[in-house]
Order: sequence, then C-alpha cells, then structure tokens
Amino acid sequence: MGRLDRPIQPARLPAGLKVWIGGSSPPMEDYHSPKPPHLLARTNRNGRANRMAAIKPLIAGNWKMNGTTAALAELASMEAGYDQAMRVRLNMLVCVPATLVSAAATVALNSGVTIGAQDCHAKPSGAHTGDISAEMLADAGASAIIVGHSERRTDHGETDEQVRAKAEAALRAHLKPIVCIGETEAQRKSGETLAVLKRQLAGSLPESAAIVVAYEPVWAIGTGLTPTLADIAEAHAFIRAELAARFGEAGSAIPILYGGSVKPANAAEILAVADVNGALVGGASLKATDFLGICQAA
Ligand code: PEP
Repeated sequence: MGRLDRPIQPARLPAGLKVWIGGSSPPMEDYHSPKPPHLLARTNRNGRANRMAAIKPLIAGNWKMNGTTAALAELASMEAGYDQAMRVRLNMLVCVPATLVSAAATVALNSGVTIGAQDCHAKPSGAHTGDISAEMLADAGASAIIVGHSERRTDHGETDEQVRAKAEAALRAHLKPIVCIGETEAQRKSGETLAVLKRQLAGSLPESAAIVVAYEPVWAIGTGLTPTLADIAEAHAFIRAELAARFGEAGSAIPILYGGSVKPANAAEILAVADVNGALVGGASLKATDFLGICQAA
C-alpha cells in the first residue's frame, strides 16, 4: 500500500470510520478494476489491446463558484443515486467551493462519493491573506484538488510552473491533484494543439505519477461545443504517450479525464473513446439528475 493510500483515522471522525487519503475514498487499487468485458475489445491505433481500459472511470464534478449550503441537497441526491452497481463501475468525485468542503465531506461520509476542492496555494501555511493551502483542504475533508483549470490560468494568470507547484502541494498534503491542460480555440485553429499539450504536460506535472490529468479544450468549457470524437481520441492518445514516456509503467495507469461540455446526451460516446478514463464535468455537475445521467453513461 503506497504512501497516498493508507487509511487514516482523523480525530473528528467517529471511531471505526476509515477514510482514504489520496485519490478517491477507495485505495489506489480501486482505480484499476478488472477489465469489464465491453472494454476488453477496445484496441489502440495499432490494433493492440488497450491496456488502459482497466482504469476504473472517474466522473468528477466541478461546481466552480457555485453553491451555498442549499446545494448540499443536490450532493445528497447524487449520493443516493450512486448505488452499489455504480460504485463497482466508477469513482464519483465532487469538487465543491472551498467554503463547502467540510460540510460536503460530512454529507458524503459513508456514501462512497468523495469530495474535492478546486485550487490551493502552493505553500502549506503563511502570510497569504485569502489563500487556502492543500493541508487546510485535506483537514476539511477533501480527497483531491483540481489544479491548473483554464479559468484559473486565464483569470489569475497561473503559469505551468505555478500549476506544478500546486500539484506538488496537493501531493504533499496526500491529496490527488487533477492537473488540467488544454488548448484555446486559436491554438486549435492554428494547429498547435499537441504542441500546447506537450508544453503544459512538461511544465505542469509534478514528479509523482499519483495524479489525474484532465484534458479540457478551453473553447469547449461551458460553451456547449465539443471536439469531434477523433480529436478527443488524438489528444488522449498523445497525452497517454507523453505520460508513458515520462513516468514509464506508472504513466500508463494515470487516469486521463475529458472535460468540456460533457452532458448526459454526449457522455456515452465520449467516455467510449480509447484512453478517456472519465470526465471532468462543470455545468452538468450542479444538478444531480444531469450528473447521474453522465455517470449512468460511463
Ligand atoms: C469544467 O469546468 O471543467 C468544465 C468542463 O465545464 P463544463 O462541463 O461546463 O464545460
């Protein structure tokens, strides 16, 4: 059992209750379920069996700057829909605003749903008014942190170097970093997509392979637009190759999520693309019916 996967017994939890630090509530092994039969047939571009089909899908919600305590009712409905059959099939994570992490973690106790945050400061503590460290989010009950979301890269000018520092901070706090990368519309139109992804991977990823990568074309986020399935396949295959080149065997086991206007109506076809190991869902994660619809498609 790895450093990130040991059960801990936080003082504030009832006796006998274990939570898992790092990844989602199950240990890392749970990201690698036995290959479901419908995925065994998948092949990669070379016609070889797609070994990544064994990664258990992760459906992660990103509530962005939405939600007060009233929104916890939606979280409770998501948990109610995350039944035994769905638990076996996929991991569910909901990344709520920092103000809700503690309350959401309490609501999610024993449900199998894990709670994440959307950003953190790179340092563990200090004179950084208004910022929140990964350690604080872990203490509040988070299991994962989104880092490098394009809205933070745009709104706050976050660089690859800063994203990498935040990813390292998440790991330091035993949380799973979900590192976001993706090209702008202009970059796609000028044929730079793969070069942008390569640069962002090189600059944003931490040393450890205990991460999740989210491919989110900036122009697809919140717009209702999505790349073609062929474009998603190309990007994910490229990211997989880069991860394998950088981390070796461990790179082949890193979940790669697709994000950008995923909805119940398009989830099945997107999630069926090779090397798409789940989804990062913004708008459609705010309503339990939509989020569960996406989960049902996984
Ligand atoms: C996101 O916020 O990461 C995202 C993918 O948003 P949406 O699903 O709304 O496009």
